[in-house]
Amino acid sequence: MMSPVFRFAPSPNGHLHLGHAYSALLNARMAAEAGGRLLIRIEDTDQTRCTTEFTRDALEDLAWLGLEWEQPVRIQSEHMADYHAMLEKLWALSAIYPCFCSRKEAPRLAAIDPDGQPLYAGKCRSISQEEARKRITCGMSHGWRIDMSAAGDAPASVWGDVVIAKPRLGSSYHIAVVTDDALQGVSHVVRGKDIEAATPIHQLLQRLLGLPSPAYVHHDLILDNAGLKLSKSSGSTSLRSLRAKGVSAAQIRARLGFPRI
Ligand code: GLU
Repeated sequence: MMSPVFRFAPSPNGHLHLGHAYSALLNARMAAEAGGRLLIRIEDTDQTRCTTEFTRDALEDLAWLGLEWEQPVRIQSEHMADYHAMLEKLWALSAIYPCFCSRKEAPRLAAIDPDGQPLYAGKCRSISQEEARKRITCGMSHGWRIDMSAAGDAPASVWGDVVIAKPRLGSSYHIAVVTDDALQGVSHVVRGKDIEAATPIHQLLQRLLGLPSPAYVHHDLILDNAGLKLSKSSGSTSLRSLRAKGVSAAQIRARLGFPRI
C-alpha cells in the first residue's frame, strides 16, 4: 500500500498565526499516526497579496514550531503552466467557460453563494468557444467559471458559475488546489472549517477531470478571546509576535494540544 500523504498549504499573504499552527500540527500528527508523509505547499497564485518574504517567514515559523516536511516545497506561482493545462482540459470538456465580465459589470442573480456574494448570472456562458478563443487571442482579460448548468452537481451548484481562475491566472485557488492535490498524490486533506463550503467545488473538479478524490477533514477553527476567527491581520496571535514576546514553541504546541508532534 502507498503511504498516506498529508499537506499543509498556507497562502503567504500575511504571517502565520495560531490557527495555522493548529492546522499544521494536526496534519503532522495525523501523518505520523498514519505512517504517512507530510508536505508543505505554498499557495501564492494571488501575486497581488502574496510575497516571497511571507513565504520565507512561514517556512521559518513552521520549522521553529518543530515541524518536519519533505523537500522540495511546491510553490504554486512557479507552476502556472500546470493550472493552465487543467483549464484547457476543462474547457475542452465544455465544463468551464472564459468570462470577460469585470467584477463590477458582471450581471448577478438574487441568490447568494456561501461567501455571501450574489451568484453570477451566466452572461458569458453563451459565447461560442470560437468567439471566446478569438477574444483570448486578442488579449482580452478573462477569468474562468464552471458551467454549473452543464456540470449538474447539486452540492457545488450553491456557488453558481463560480470563478476557478481569475484573469492572468492570479487567485486561481480552486484550480490550483485540485491540480496540486492530484499531482502530489495527496490522500488526506485536513483543513479548517472555513474552507468546508469549497470542498464540493474541488470534488466536482476532480470528477470532471477524472482525478482521485482525497479524504477530507475540516477541523474547528482557533478563535480569539472574543470568539472571532483569527485573521492574518490580527498581529497579536501571529507566531512571530508570540515568539518575540518570549513564548516558546513548546508552549504554543502545548496550548494547541500537541505537546509532542
Ligand atoms: N491556502 C489556503 C489557505 O491558506 C488553504 C487551502 C487548503 O488547505 O486547501 O487558506
